[in-house]
Amino acid sequence: MPVTVEHVTHFLTAAAAIIHEHRDELTALDAAIGDADHGANLDRGFSAVLNRLPTVADKDIGTVLKTTGMTIVSTVGGASGPLYGTAFVRAGMALADRHEMSDEDVVLALEAALEGIIARGKAQRGEKTMVDALAPAIEALRTALAEGRSLGRALQQAAAAAEAGAKATIPMLAMKGRASYLGERSIGHQDPGATSTAYLLRALAMTCSRNEEVA
Ligand code: ADP
Ligand code: MG
Repeated sequence: MPVTVEHVTHFLTAAAAIIHEHRDELTALDAAIGDADHGANLDRGFSAVLNRLPTVADKDIGTVLKTTGMTIVSTVGGASGPLYGTAFVRAGMALADRHEMSDEDVVLALEAALEGIIARGKAQRGEKTMVDALAPAIEALRTALAEGRSLGRALQQAAAAAEAGAKATIPMLAMKGRASYLGERSIGHQDPGATSTAYLLRALAMTCSRNEEVA
């Protein structure tokens, strides 16, 4: 079943809800190794995205995602604003003028998002950032689709891989962003950005699984 603009809108609504629900937890994680603003930053950004959604409801998927990215860049601030903003803009560029996307297009959009984050932030895996959640999620998604899973099931596996990736940042030494200023003291804490990435993938998985159930 193809993914449509309506599904993308449902995903963004679910993303805003899950970020809002976990706002204090994300901020607490950032209090330990950053400046205690990650939850508030993202909550502000995704609620601005929700407000913009009605203005792009009749547009193509690429426009919806690009508008999301630009809204995030202009409202989130910090390191994560430009990083998540670039991720959504790149995903939108990969889907320019499209009204439907296949399973493979979902993979390509997530890969474009990851490439955008890496181009902007220069982080590699193992450096305690959002890359440590998104990269294993895409691998799990590819594997699950190759094994014949439905998109919803495959995204559930991707979300689980992102959650495991976020947990795996606990023993890592932060090499990028504010947490890197702490040096060895960053060890023993879960990265806030990897954690929010895992929540965003959970929102995507929930949206696509629900679509399959009602189909
Ligand atoms: P700030 O650190 O400016 O306060 P946030 O608190 O909103 O911004 O976001 C912090 C998160 O951003 C970190 O937990 C990390 O996952 C992510 N991050 C920071 N720098 C980079 C980078 N260079 N590449 C990828 N992710 C990064
Ligand atoms: Mg912060």
